[in-house]
Amino acid sequence: MKLLFLGSPGVGKGTYAQVLTDVLEIPHISTGDLLREEAKTGSELGNEIKRIMDEGGLVPDEKMLKVIEARIVKDDCENGFILDGFPRTSNQAVQLNELIEISHVLNFKANDEVIIERLSGRIVCKKCSTIFHKTGNKPKRENQCDKCDGDLYQRDDDKPEAVQKRLDVYREKTAPLIDHYTNEGLLVEVVINKPITEIKEQMIGKIKEFLEGKTETIEEIK
Ligand code: AMP
Repeated sequence: MKLLFLGSPGVGKGTYAQVLTDVLEIPHISTGDLLREEAKTGSELGNEIKRIMDEGGLVPDEKMLKVIEARIVKDDCENGFILDGFPRTSNQAVQLNELIEISHVLNFKANDEVIIERLSGRIVCKKCSTIFHKTGNKPKRENQCDKCDGDLYQRDDDKPEAVQKRLDVYREKTAPLIDHYTNEGLLVEVVINKPITEIKEQMIGKIKEFLEGKTETIEEIK
């Protein structure tokens, strides 16, 4: 099953992808995580990527295509994958279409206040990239990852200066993909305004039912 997760930065799609990867037994491919790995190497390319990400801009399409092409041919992708954060532009969507046949596009949605709250409180593991939240989805021990004991940190691009730019870039470049995939008959909405910790289990159940073909939509949990 080849799934795309669309949605604004901070909507919660990465958190859901981190659970669904285990439930569906397919890898979670976050292009943001792949780019952060490359940025960590300190190479010239890595530094350039870090600069773009810290400012909240988009890494050029040609580079992104290479990143994706190299990742989806790996053995663990044989039965499918969850693409989280790709495509982010119309051009990326066109190019992806030439590489794979998409099973479903899940479009994660939340109100603006919910998104800002999720972004400003998000903390992430330096080692394994697991996502937590300072007040909502808290780690069991302060600033330590529940999964691998790694240190938690706030991403540079989750600081207020970059957040507005990322939301603007999302609206301008990525949101048009919603219409594109709706027209292709591939899109389903996942509305998640309630705190993730309150509804995660139930929502995962609903997503699973949809993917198994038992429902045609994924209902909001109110
Ligand atoms: P994310 O972790 O998905 O929020 O991505 C963090 C940052 O990585 C984005 O703000 C972009 O700078 C960059 N990035 C991730 N995916 C892409 C993509 N598909 N195209 C261009 N830039 C991307």
